[in-house]
Amino acid sequence: MKLQLFTTLALLLAVAPLQADRFKEVQVQDTKLTENLYMLTGAGGNMATIIAGDKVLLVDSQYAELADKIKAKLGELGATSGVTTLVNTHLHGDHVGGNSQLAAGVDIIAHHNVLSRLTQDSQFPRNGLPTITFKEQLKLRLGGQTIRLDYLPPSHTDGDIVVWFEEANVVHFGDLLFEGRFPFIDTNNGGSVKGYIDNTRQLMGMLNQQTRVIPGHGQLTDKAGVQRSLDMMQATLAIVQGYKAAGMTEQQAVEKGLGEQWKSWHWNFITEERWIKTLYRADVN
Ligand SMILES: [Zn+2]
Repeated sequence: MKLQLFTTLALLLAVAPLQADRFKEVQVQDTKLTENLYMLTGAGGNMATIIAGDKVLLVDSQYAELADKIKAKLGELGATSGVTTLVNTHLHGDHVGGNSQLAAGVDIIAHHNVLSRLTQDSQFPRNGLPTITFKEQLKLRLGGQTIRLDYLPPSHTDGDIVVWFEEANVVHFGDLLFEGRFPFIDTNNGGSVKGYIDNTRQLMGMLNQQTRVIPGHGQLTDKAGVQRSLDMMQATLAIVQGYKAAGMTEQQAVEKGLGEQWKSWHWNFITEERWIKTLYRADVN
């Protein structure tokens, strides 16, 4: 089942235009983290929600086509109203696609660069645009929880935030973590390989052994899972830098590959070839 969802996700990310029937089989599922905090999965970026009766905070909105299923799940978990506050971790369509359907008319919070970029996208529904933006940090209180939004320097894009649920010791990394797979670094939207690795390292120092980490994609994980991702990025970057230092072209580096150790990180959207090219082109010195 996990593999099936995963394949669906990869198709969604890779194939445009999106077809509604691709979502037909998708189920929105919850993982309970505290009494009123949940991780939600469906297709696209993982979500988090705090349900406090008629106050409902949602982190990310996946796709418009899934909005009804997401609403149904929130109701099943005890929400007596629709979403009252939506947070977007960044601008990608699999994280903001349901904004308009789920949060038109309520607070939609994101980093300022997300608003700038989405505003330039004439296809993006105006009533799904962020209504509250910030540059460095924003704190909210809801359902007895402190929710802290921290901006990090350009990495996956130039508008990524991580969402801390302080009392619960839970953090939503947005796409600063692709758990168990090569990450997407969107240089067309201000992303940076160096920034991504630096941010991962910095975030590692803010986690403890009990912290639960919701990745943008993949399974709920922890500090050890973030460390595995960091180790992979540092090791594969060193490999590709070695190829460059030896005078290999990008194509030669792709043909040589990263070796058996990193094979399992390959997936449909960020293949080993695409990851090698990302690293080869990275300005990391
Ligand atoms: Zn993303």
